[in-house]
Amino acid sequence: SLDPATFANEPALFLAALRLPTLAGHKYDRGHAVVLSGSASKTGAARLSAGAALRAGAGLVTVLSPASAVLVNAAHLTAVMLRRCDDEAELDAVLADERLNAFVLGPGFGVGERARHYAGRLLAADRHVVLDADALTSFADIPDDLFSMIRGSKGSAVLTPHAGEFKRLFPDLAETSDGKLSRAREAAARSGAVVILKGADTVIAAPDGRAAINATGTPWLATAGSGDVLSGIVCAQLAQGTPGFEAACAGVWMHGKAAEAFGPGLIAEDLAPMLPKVLAELT
Ligand code: AMP
Ligand code: MG
Repeated sequence: SLDPATFANEPALFLAALRLPTLAGHKYDRGHAVVLSGSASKTGAARLSAGAALRAGAGLVTVLSPASAVLVNAAHLTAVMLRRCDDEAELDAVLADERLNAFVLGPGFGVGERARHYAGRLLAADRHVVLDADALTSFADIPDDLFSMIRGSKGSAVLTPHAGEFKRLFPDLAETSDGKLSRAREAAARSGAVVILKGADTVIAAPDGRAAINATGTPWLATAGSGDVLSGIVCAQLAQGTPGFEAACAGVWMHGKAAEAFGPGLIAEDLAPMLPKVLAELT
C-alpha cells in the first residue's frame, strides 16, 4: 500500500501548479531555457533537448555551444537560438542576463571537470537546473560536492538519472532491497533535489517526501536520445515558473504521453512533434 505522500502521476497532481501560456503573456513570461551543448561529436543530444524545450512551452530556447560545435549546431537549429560559450567566464556573461532562467546540463556534454564547474556556476547563480546524463556521471565519486551546491541554490534542481546513473550517485541506495519508490525518496532527501528515477516505471521524488509513480509511456522510449528529450521538457516547465516537483511530474507525464501518441517505431526525434497533441489534453 502507498504511503500518504505517494501519488499516481496524473494531471490532477500537477495541473494546478502548471504554468501555461496566458492571453496577455509574451514570450519572456514563458521563460528562456538554455541547453549546454557538448563538443563536436555528440551535439545531437543538446539539440534534442532544446527542441523539446521549445515545443513544451519555453518562450525562448538557446543552445550554448563550444566553438568547435558552433557550425554543426547552427546548421541544425532554426527557432532555437545559438550562442558560443567556451569557458566559465563566458558562462558567467550569459548568466548576467537574468531572463535566462532554466538550464539543461548533461546530455552529450562530456564527463569531467568542465561539467562540474558549469554545474557549480549555474547553481551558484540560483538558476533552475536539470542535471542529466554526463552532468550526473561527472559527480560519481563526489556526489556530496553536488548536493551541497544544490542546497546552496535558490533555484529548483531536478536530477534525471536512469538506473546506471542513479547507481553512480547513490551507490549504497542502489544496493538496498528497498523498492524504487523509497530509493528515489531517499535520494531526493539526501541531494536536496527533485529526483526523476527513470525506467519503465519512472518515479518522481521531492526532498519534502512527496513522490509520484508514473504510468505513461511505452517500451519504445528505450531508445537513444529519449532521456535527452525528457530533460528539455522538464526544463521548459521550470522556465515557465512551475515548481520543481510539479515540473518534473508534468514533464514525465508528457514525455510518456508523447510516446503513446506516436506509437510503435518511435525514435527520440518523434517525441517533440507529438507534444501539441499531448498539451491539448491539458488545456
Ligand atoms: P535515457 O536512458 O536517459 O535515454 O532515458 C530513457 C527514457 O525512456 C526515460 O524517460 C525512461 O523512463 C524511458 N524508458 C526507458 N525504458 C522504458 C520502458 N521499457 N518503458 C517505458 N519507458 C521507458
Ligand atoms: Mg540519458
